[in-house]
Formats: sequence, structure tokens, C-alpha cells
Amino acid sequence: PEVPVSETKHLPGQTDRPSESAGAVRLTSLVKRFGDHVVVNDVSMDVAAGEVVAIIGPSGAGKSTLLRCINLLERPDSGIVDVAGIQFDAATPVSGKDLARLRRHVGMVFQSFNLFPHLTVLRNVALPQERVLGISRTEAEEKAIRLLDRVGLKDKAKQYPGRCSGGQQQRIAIARALALGPQIMLFDEPTSALDPELGLEVLAVMRELAAEGMTMAVVTHEMHFARDVSDHLVVMADGAILEEGDPDRIFTDPEQPRTRQFLRAVL
Ligand code: ADP
Ligand code: MG
Repeated sequence: PEVPVSETKHLPGQTDRPSESAGAVRLTSLVKRFGDHVVVNDVSMDVAAGEVVAIIGPSGAGKSTLLRCINLLERPDSGIVDVAGIQFDAATPVSGKDLARLRRHVGMVFQSFNLFPHLTVLRNVALPQERVLGISRTEAEEKAIRLLDRVGLKDKAKQYPGRCSGGQQQRIAIARALALGPQIMLFDEPTSALDPELGLEVLAVMRELAAEGMTMAVVTHEMHFARDVSDHLVVMADGAILEEGDPDRIFTDPEQPRTRQFLRAVL
């Protein structure tokens, strides 16, 4: 079924949004099982280019698994993943070339930052560019410095990740993902391992990205972020979409009793 896409929020004066086809995600009738357990149960979802979709719901709802299906970290058992202009059908094997393209165009940030502890912050952001994009060390490090500056961490370039706070490490992880020039960014509870004030630094970077028109799918327990920043809200429970639509509408007047119950528990 076609999922209605809400109007994208714009910053005042902002005009240069990416073209409609550049960074869209379309999931059609996605099913993912682990053994007998159906974890994602016939989910269809659209993220238009430049749109921010927040995915909320109780633990175990299948949010992470759904997100991981978008970049094929999990292979769906059936359904279609249409992302960055490539269609992946669960029935057809994925070529290495398509997978490489997918990894380049879809950046992901996890709850645990997964930085390389033995590399400096600069090398963490530069190395994937050298490996994946095949550019020179000089060029990669120049771009890394620009991105570290953008997330407010240029002065940490020569440090090792272990010397950085959790909030800084997560911003480095975001810079590393951005370094490959993704069209789409996936975030899986990027602040849930952080103290609230460190989470705010990360959310600020994410707000900026959203305002710049990055296509984003964000699994989050930050209800303020979900309400303020997302264009479209998806509420999941038991592997399915409970309801979705305008975030303000869902927060003020949820249709489903289970949404109401969930929001009451977390707000
Ligand atoms: P959420 O992110 O909403 O908390 P998940 O997608 O992580 O939910 O998990 C949904 C369900 O799938 C949970 O019951 C979880 O235990 C199960 N699950 C997730 N990953 C695996 C896995 N690799 N193997 C087996 N079960 C898994
Ligand atoms: Mg999860």
C-alpha cells in the first residue's frame, strides 16, 4: 500500500533541497524472521528525499531490524527494498557492486559508536573514504577535517576516540558516515547510550543535518526530537506499523490505544 508522505519542514529561506529521486527509501511488504519469530511483519514505508522519518515504539518492536533491512545489514525474507535508486528483491541475490553502492549511499549511525580505537579521530574519518571511495590520503584527511569542524570537533583530530566523551564519539561517528557522501542517513537510537547533556550535542548535529535536507530515518526514544524534527512519525509494535503520520497529530491525538499507552509511558 502507498504510504502518504507528509510535507517536508523547511528552514526559512532554504531552497536547495535534493532532487526527489536522489535519496528516497521505499520499503514494500517487508518481512524478516529470526527462526519462527516474525520480527518485521509485512511493513511498507516511504521516506521521500529530504524527509526525516522518526520511528518510535516499545523495545522489541522490530525498529532496529527494520532499519537494518534498509541497508541490507539484515536480508529480508520477502519484500522489496528500494533505496538510493537500487531495487533489492528478497528473492534475488545482491551483487557485490550493488552492495558497495548501497553502503556508499546509505550511512548508518548506531547506539554504540563503533569507532576504531587504535586510529586517531582524523584517521577514523579519513580511512573509510580511502577504502570505499579510493581517494588519496591527503584528500580524505582534508575532507575529514572539514567534517570534524562541522560537528564541532576539529580540535580532536589528533586524539584517539578513547579520550573523547560519548557525545564526541557519536559526533565523530556521524562525521565518518557523512564522509562517504551518503544520500540517506540511518540512525538507530544514537543518543540512548549517552548522558542527556551529551545526547543534546548529538541531537543538535542531527537537527542541522535534517535542516540541510538530508534524508533521514531515525529510530529514537527522544520524543522531543521525534516531534520537533521529523516530518513523518512511524509508531511500531510487534513487527508492524501501529500508526503513522504527522508527528504533532500523533502526539496530541493518537488513533490507536496502543500508541496512546506507549506515549503515556514514555512522555
Ligand atoms: P527494537 O529495535 O524495536 O527493540 P529489534 O529489531 O532489535 O527491536 O528486535 C525485534 C525482535 O527481534 C526482538 O524480539 C529481538 O529479540 C529479535 N531479534 C533481533 N535481532 C535478532 C537476531 N539477530 N537473532 C534473533 N532474534 C533477533
Ligand atoms: Mg533497537
